[in-house]
Amino acid sequence: MRRKIVAGNWKMYKTPAEAVSLVTEILRVAPPRNDRDVVVCPPFTALSRVSQLLKGSPVKLGAQNVCWEKEGAYTGEISAPMLRELGCEYVIVGHSERRQYFREDDALIAKKLKAVLAEHMKPILCVGERLEEREGGRTNEVLASQTKGALGEFDATQVRGLVVAYEPVWAIGTGKTATSQMAVEAHQFIRQLLAEMFGAGLAGETRIQYGGSVKPENAAELLREPEIDGALVGGASLKADSFLRIVHAG
Ligand code: PEP
Repeated sequence: MRRKIVAGNWKMYKTPAEAVSLVTEILRVAPPRNDRDVVVCPPFTALSRVSQLLKGSPVKLGAQNVCWEKEGAYTGEISAPMLRELGCEYVIVGHSERRQYFREDDALIAKKLKAVLAEHMKPILCVGERLEEREGGRTNEVLASQTKGALGEFDATQVRGLVVAYEPVWAIGTGKTATSQMAVEAHQFIRQLLAEMFGAGLAGETRIQYGGSVKPENAAELLREPEIDGALVGGASLKADSFLRIVHAG
């Protein structure tokens, strides 16, 4: 049985003080259930303070991005060792907003994955098709090219602990959710790809989350599916109440 994982991607929301309030409320209102991994991914500027608050709690810390290099003259960047030292266990890599606004391609994403894995953190690799790609019947082609493009250079021992987030781009921040059947089909396809690349054992243990307008109202239906190993939550993770209702759904 794969342990489900619900992660909140706070994007560019919450100052450090606001982040402290949100995480304090998450920890106060209800202890997250212990049969699931719960992760919060604040902006870089709030990681240190959130990390202090999470010490001794079951909630884990994640980052939203990382530089591919360990250190050097890369003005404005943050490296994997820096994130590791702050207590991050997870790092989101290849989010569609980074692909779209920051021109991240599969080769760069592969380098970032390598940097995260080298520090023994778990990448959350985001893949997903755009609306025109789904409508053009190219969903599987896109998922295959993103998955192989990012993971093609690794072997099974290197990617143990990896989490994949299936995030159809047309569902992110739009209020449109993939039906659970669409999500299950995409997850099965990704798992099959992982089996071809790394073997059935690794594919069977790798968690694949769904992301795209997950809300308390639709979370139970998605999370009840055995093929859906959790959720990557954007907008609804910015309030303790809605995030915790998703954590406890299904
Ligand atoms: C995301 O940021 O990964 C995401 C899925 O956002 P939202 O839940 O707001 O669609």
